[in-house]
Amino acid sequence: MDFEFSPEQRAIAETTRRFVEKEMPRRKVLQWVRDKVEPPQELFEKLGALGYYGFLLPEAYSGLERPDPMGMLAFVEQFARASAAVTTAWGRAAVILAPLVAKFGSPEQKDLVLPRVMRGEVFMALGLTEPGSGSDAASLRTTAVRRPDGCWVINGEKLYCSQAKSAGFLILAARTNPKVAKQEGISTFLVQDPGRNPSIELTRIETMGLGPVPTFSMHLRNLVLPPDALIGEEHKGWQCVLGGLDNERLYHGAIGVGASQAIIDEVVAYVKQREQFGKPLSKLQSVRHKIVDMQLRVEAARLLVYRGASVLDRTGSCHNEASFAKVAGAECYMHCAYTGLQLLGGYGYTVDSGLPMHFQDAKLFEIGGGAMEVQRDIIARGLGL
Ligand SMILES: Cc1cc2nc3c(=O)[nH]c(=O)nc-3n(C[C@H](O)[C@H](O)[C@H](O)COP(=O)(O)OP(=O)(O)OC[C@H]3O[C@@H](n4cnc5c(N)ncnc54)[C@H](O)[C@@H]3O)c2cc1C
Repeated sequence: MDFEFSPEQRAIAETTRRFVEKEMPRRKVLQWVRDKVEPPQELFEKLGALGYYGFLLPEAYSGLERPDPMGMLAFVEQFARASAAVTTAWGRAAVILAPLVAKFGSPEQKDLVLPRVMRGEVFMALGLTEPGSGSDAASLRTTAVRRPDGCWVINGEKLYCSQAKSAGFLILAARTNPKVAKQEGISTFLVQDPGRNPSIELTRIETMGLGPVPTFSMHLRNLVLPPDALIGEEHKGWQCVLGGLDNERLYHGAIGVGASQAIIDEVVAYVKQREQFGKPLSKLQSVRHKIVDMQLRVEAARLLVYRGASVLDRTGSCHNEASFAKVAGAECYMHCAYTGLQLLGGYGYTVDSGLPMHFQDAKLFEIGGGAMEVQRDIIARGLGL
């Protein structure tokens, strides 16, 4: 199996690395974290200008001959070095939701959403999780009822709807048939400018990390959507959501790999120059071994992430492989944030070192987009258990 990047994919990695150094220096990212503000849209428009929203979109919108999951990983690994959180603001549109619109949306929906996403002009939000349905997402209770005029009336409550206020488009999952099995009665809808809709009440939820990517609870009270807001077929929304979740899990793995590698690079530089007991910390065997163990996890996670991309490239989906990638990448990130902070000592505990940010962000990836236990359940099913 050859997981080497092509020359074009290497160029994506290199361009992204330079982009991140210039546009997202640590002091700027830490300012976003401290102030709990989203990065300016301009940052994402620059990514759009580079074509970095199109990795998983069809040629008509991306200009690529075919989708390029490996190119997507080349980008994510480098971008996540600066901020895992900010990577999710890009990925919710580029990786999870725009490909969903491309696959299931009507021609009008595609023309409305995809060019704006490609230009990096809009964030996207996903309204799936509810107070009573998280890991068991298909048990959602928000309802969508069709009126005689064909419009949809939506009522319910959503939780942790990231970037719902600033998003240009929200993809909302709601129950359209309560009488059938839970996965069979769900439909998905496209909502424009959710933050400006008077029938949608948003309340920011304070979170441990992910400061630059605010998340909200969302009350939907008699939200009326036009007939053409339905994405794909009525009652078939679960299939739409699932493909998006697989993509999310794969790129979450890549975020873990990129952010972990950034931590390791930082730690290596630090322990080589920091002297204690008359020699650099890097000469202490237990320090060296800790760093080696971090790198071992990164290498293993990277291979699983690349394998996922390779399967997605060949078959168009990657259910099991995405779960492997997510578990390996997320647990690697948590481990590297924890161990990296320890190895930087008092400096690691300072906000300016960037390690507290990593420490707080890393935990999200073991929960959001499907907890580690849920991923292990998926892998177990693949093993016939
Ligand atoms: C910062 C943040 C941003 C988010 N953004 C979004 C978003 O934009 N849109 C959206 O729809 N959702 C979003 N989510 C929701 C996220 O995907 C859910 O939190 C996640 O799926 C877990 O659901 P839950 O929190 O309800 O946990 P629960 O389902 O209540 O699970 C709690 C814990 O129970 C354990 N557990 C659960 N199921 C199993 C199992 N089968 N076997 C063993 N143990 C299990 C796990 O340890 C799990 O962590 C976000 C969450 C966070 C924290």
